[in-house]
Amino acid sequence: MRKNYDVIIIGAGIVGSMVARFLSKYQLEILLIEKEVDIGMGASSANSAILHAGYDALPGSNKAITNVMAVEMWPELSEELGIDYSRCGDYVVAVDEADVLVLEELLERGRQNGVPGIEIISGEEMRQREPLIRPDAVAALWAPTGAISDPFAATVAAAENAVMNGVHLMRNTAFEDFIIEGNRILGVRTNQGDFLCRWAVNAAGLHADEVMHKAGVRPEFVIRPRRGKYVILDKADFQLTRATVLFPTPTEKGKGILVAGTLHGNIIVGPNANFVDSKENKDITREGIQEIWEGGNKLVPAIQRKHIIAEFAVLRATGNAPSPQSKSGFW
Ligand SMILES: Cc1cc2nc3c(=O)[nH]c(=O)nc-3n(C[C@H](O)[C@H](O)[C@H](O)COP(=O)(O)OP(=O)(O)OC[C@H]3O[C@@H](n4cnc5c(N)ncnc54)[C@H](O)[C@@H]3O)c2cc1C
Repeated sequence: MRKNYDVIIIGAGIVGSMVARFLSKYQLEILLIEKEVDIGMGASSANSAILHAGYDALPGSNKAITNVMAVEMWPELSEELGIDYSRCGDYVVAVDEADVLVLEELLERGRQNGVPGIEIISGEEMRQREPLIRPDAVAALWAPTGAISDPFAATVAAAENAVMNGVHLMRNTAFEDFIIEGNRILGVRTNQGDFLCRWAVNAAGLHADEVMHKAGVRPEFVIRPRRGKYVILDKADFQLTRATVLFPTPTEKGKGILVAGTLHGNIIVGPNANFVDSKENKDITREGIQEIWEGGNKLVPAIQRKHIIAEFAVLRATGNAPSPQSKSGFW
């Protein structure tokens, strides 16, 4: 087994897999390590699957820039990787005048961020486009470039492409420590042995703080898991008029509980957002499901609990000191 690499990437979620694919264009020996039995088992396996149009992130932030850039990149990316996505657009629905003020703020941010085609439509127009929306909706923000994807398929496709290009992938391989000399990283220690490298990329998601601490970087930065739960509805029992994404008006707590189509033809409802103590705690509680249920019903009263065919939970990596560049107003 080769033990000497140019680059070692720690974590094979969407970030590590896409970085591996990108770097595989170059003459580099690359190792991608993943602690789990398979790739993409973290946040990239189970999220809302939305390609955000870019109206939510604060103007000038990295998130604003990359949201808009990513939306433009997806047609080519999906073709190259053979993965599906649907540019169905998304709506943020307002139910009172206070909500409309928030929509106006999002519209302004969207314009500053360069989001194309963004506009506020009336409640009546919203009801025409989606008759199942709550009847008292007064307005909605419409972003035609919002889209839905399959993040797990994208992770697998990126990693597969990287491996075809010569990247060495090791699963069941957990990073344990860095091999450091002076102030230089010389390699990584894993449960499968030591590997030398010239550069190490930290793409460990929820565990990225622990990895950076091993390099002696920013000990004050800590990631706290914030659990989000979802339910999936049976496609035979319930459909929106057109598969799209319906958000409530965001609050300071976050984007809120959405109702959206998926690429598989089902409807997804969620997530809620609650801090938990353990990075392993993906428990699904009765109260959590009730919270999601009430949130979904507020947007689309016609959904019923009997339509649920699956439930799952996923953990957000929430840092205690986000950089101003990554700030988003409602996330
Ligand atoms: C509820 C929720 C909803 C979301 N909705 C959206 C959305 O609609 N649109 C969107 O763009 N984003 C969304 N996100 C965010 C998105 O899921 C993440 O930004 C993205 O998946 C992060 O990818 P990642 O590769 O950094 O992390 P992960 O997918 O978590 O990958 C990290 C990988 O590192 C591995 N790892 C960790 N420690 C080690 C170690 N010591 N050694 C080796 N491997 C290790 C893990 O096993 C994991 O596979 C959502 C997130 C959540 C939680």
